[in-house]
Amino acid sequence: MTVNYAETFKKLPPYLFAEIDKKKKELLDKGVDIINFGIGDPDLPTPKFILDAMKKALNNPAYHQYPFGKGLKIFRNAVTNWYQHRFNVNLSPENEIHALIGSKEGITHLALAYVNPGEIVLCPEPGYPAYASSTWINHGEVHFMPLTEKNNFFPDFSQISSDILKKAKVMFLNSPNNPTSQVYTEEQFKKAIAFAKKNNIVLAHDAAYTEMYYDGKPPISFLEVEGAKEVGVEFHSLSKTYNMTGWRIAFVVGNPDIIAGLARIKDNFDSGVFSAIQEAAAIAMNNGDSECKKMREIYQKRRDLFVSEMQKMGWEVNIPEATFYVWAKTPNKISSSECAGKLLEECGIVVTPGNGFGPSGEGYIRFALTVNENRIMQAIARMKKLKF
Ligand SMILES: *Cc1c(COP(=O)(O)O)cnc(C)c1O
Repeated sequence: MTVNYAETFKKLPPYLFAEIDKKKKELLDKGVDIINFGIGDPDLPTPKFILDAMKKALNNPAYHQYPFGKGLKIFRNAVTNWYQHRFNVNLSPENEIHALIGSKEGITHLALAYVNPGEIVLCPEPGYPAYASSTWINHGEVHFMPLTEKNNFFPDFSQISSDILKKAKVMFLNSPNNPTSQVYTEEQFKKAIAFAKKNNIVLAHDAAYTEMYYDGKPPISFLEVEGAKEVGVEFHSLSKTYNMTGWRIAFVVGNPDIIAGLARIKDNFDSGVFSAIQEAAAIAMNNGDSECKKMREIYQKRRDLFVSEMQKMGWEVNIPEATFYVWAKTPNKISSSECAGKLLEECGIVVTPGNGFGPSGEGYIRFALTVNENRIMQAIARMKKLKF
């Protein structure tokens, strides 16, 4: 038989980093020592008290059955308490919180509840690829909102035409931002909320990196801003906060009606998050503050070292206030892929070309600070020999 893919499937971008990946494998086969700044996945292990909680939770036979639904009470209560003490935001554990199998899962299912074929989802670019791909899979259209240095890496809503606005149903925002590392202010969130309210758009805020911040300056939650709960929801994940990317646990909080829509979709796709993981996650949120602080100290040292060495070499880098990403301009305005290719071939350094996140990322590369200080210094030593 011939396999015929759906039209929506054909819209999905091919694996953008395939070429870099291929070159990386070739170099690895030759025995080259690769330093990998390419992947946004913490290199540090999950803290021990969370592993211990998980081992204990595994012994509860009630947790071996389908978990179904919005999540264990212990998990939802932990989210309520955490949002209260971290952001001073009140959430009802009854209808304003829903557990997710990673925030990517919730993000990719959201549009199914709100977007009819041909309707529009507003997606920041450069941005996390799941916002647009899930829209295409769901038969929606994507309108990209460029994030550029000129607009402080925040969407310029005045550039969106009324034709687009009539069809726009959902908007994604992401602060602290991947890949630009920009942190949005209360004023910026206010603008976004007013825009969403005026145009009747569901605002979906992706807050995966709020705990990975520098200089003792915690970013705000979108839900701290007046009116946020009227128009939107916030996705939060334990992945980056507690080094738990492999566990697949996150949650969505905010507007109860929007959450109810996503919940109905999820009930038809999945059967919930493994209860033992939910219990371990609850314990992580209840007792994780000191571990988070330790992680921030590690990332702070890496950031300070990396940024200062890069600046000494003359690179124009955005000093991140949060996230483990450094969004750097390519030297002499060479293209993202040329720059990433050179770093790989001549230095054995893997980075992500900025244009992989969208056309406005052209001229940038993204470094993920998921390598230790020794390796950072080795990378810097190799880069010092590079000529652009
Ligand atoms: C890492 C990341 C997430 C987290 O995804 P999970 O599915 O919860 O692991 C969400 N959004 C962005 C922008 C990310 O970079």
